Amino acid sequence: MTHPLDQKYSRQILFAPLGRDGQQRLSNSSAALVGCGAICAAVSNLLVRAGTGGLRIIDRDFVELSNLQRQSLFTESDARESLPKAIAAERNLRAINSDVPVEGIVADVTPGNAAELLSGFPLILDGTDNFETRLLINDFAVQSNTPWIYTAAVASYGVTMAIRPGQTACLACLLDTVSGAGLEETCDTVGVLGPIVNVVASLEAAEAMKILSGSFAALHERLLTCDIWTGRFQSIHPERNPECRVCAGRQFSHLAGEAQPHITMCGRDSVQIHERNRALDLKTLQERLASTVPDVRQNGFLLRFRVPPYEMTVFSDGRAILKGTKDPAVARSLYAKYIGA
Ligand SMILES: [Zn+2]
Repeated sequence: MTHPLDQKYSRQILFAPLGRDGQQRLSNSSAALVGCGAICAAVSNLLVRAGTGGLRIIDRDFVELSNLQRQSLFTESDARESLPKAIAAERNLRAINSDVPVEGIVADVTPGNAAELLSGFPLILDGTDNFETRLLINDFAVQSNTPWIYTAAVASYGVTMAIRPGQTACLACLLDTVSGAGLEETCDTVGVLGPIVNVVASLEAAEAMKILSGSFAALHERLLTCDIWTGRFQSIHPERNPECRVCAGRQFSHLAGEAQPHITMCGRDSVQIHERNRALDLKTLQERLASTVPDVRQNGFLLRFRVPPYEMTVFSDGRAILKGTKDPAVARSLYAKYIGA
């Protein structure tokens, strides 16, 4: 009788360094993916097709038309419905491989919920678009001794490294000691090309497959950087920084919340506000707003309305994303006026 994994994953099992034992371990394992933009789309697609045992995808945002150029997991219909990315990802990945449980969670990973959302996974994957969240993941990973894979892309340039607390440099070591390890610009200012995202996400997925299948000796432990426009690729072996405040000093300032403001930049012309920490009943809010605001739309996951020149998208965890301003004071007053202080 054929082994249940043999048919679906035969080409992977034929790859000798993995084999059926490696496939079995991969299929018994799971990972948490933070942020579901372009990198997540590529890496989750590869890991779900590879038969990973499970994926939790956490994202705070919703699908927009401008995402589709590079975020290969989403469709025009997801954008039309303004689906939260975590929900659209869960649906679309289930259609790709129904054997892999995928759990989409609509939330912003913060110091207050990082442990709840990320505990219990043998691997954390970086799909975020900002260093604030990456430094928070790094704190949590070092504190809980969990491997994680740093991956970032902007314009035509990308960078990735699998970080194993105690074994390799951590993200704080990299940012302090290696020039080019961080990214100066953001996708909202200089754009990003689909191909670079897929290059670094593929490198991330390969290291993830090694970790999840227990093939630790195969990890290259290198910081890989590449620019697909100039064709320049670089691979270095960063040393741990003996003075690193995180992995040597064990000071977890990002996890302690010292660096976490209630209002964060979120794209070129929008801010996210998260001033209250309790759930919102979107239906009740819709009814309440109906008398003052025309055209309040709700899809079960989020509620949206326009107060020109602003657009407000409110999530059931109490967060709101305000489009049309970069000013925290404006965001705060709009939030207080329409959602409540
Ligand atoms: Zn470090």
